Amino acid sequence: MTVQLPDSVDYVLLDEGTIQNRVQELATQISRDYEGIHNEDFLLVGVLKGSFIFLADLSRCLTVPHRVDFIALSSYQDKAETTGAVRLIMDTREDVTERHVLIVEDILDTGYTLQYLYRLFEARQPASLRTAVLLSKPDRHEVAVSIDYLGFSIPDVWVVGYGLDFADRFRTLPYIGALKPRVYEK
Ligand code: 5GP
Ligand code: MG
Repeated sequence: MTVQLPDSVDYVLLDEGTIQNRVQELATQISRDYEGIHNEDFLLVGVLKGSFIFLADLSRCLTVPHRVDFIALSSYQDKAETTGAVRLIMDTREDVTERHVLIVEDILDTGYTLQYLYRLFEARQPASLRTAVLLSKPDRHEVAVSIDYLGFSIPDVWVVGYGLDFADRFRTLPYIGALKPRVYEK
């Protein structure tokens, strides 16, 4: 089947079926690992906005009871380089202390965002703290952060779709596509 790509999208990196299969695999693994935990105590925390579709699909594939919450961050970024500074825009509603927290993030790039989240949550003394990350770009990592559940490792290209954007566009594409370099190299 051929997919009609938007003008700015170069090629499909991960198609819909590939993503869905992997999300199901991750959910199976997570459901096994968190079996027996009371629903009030298992909290998925989606990092807005990029993770909202991944979180929705992952959450619906889980067979263990859980709650869902969100946090919103913003990274200070100038075009030339990443400063690594992360700002908290919106905190979770739920108190994470003594809960089992699973951070759900769209992509690990330099690692500064996840490092920030680890520090933020660890200070609040959760019962446990793990991360589920859909994509990782190993060539771009600047700080070492561990991921407990990883969807895919991908090359250093700007990707959109399945929640991920470029200037708030392309989030609802059902696949993950690589943006044409001319679109983001300005
Ligand atoms: P880090 O702090 O690890 O450098 O950056 C993580 C954040 O950068 C992600 O949560 C995401 O918002 C953004 N990001 C990094 N690479 C990409 C990409 O290829 N596509 C999109 N849409 N966002 C990205
Ligand atoms: Mg993000």
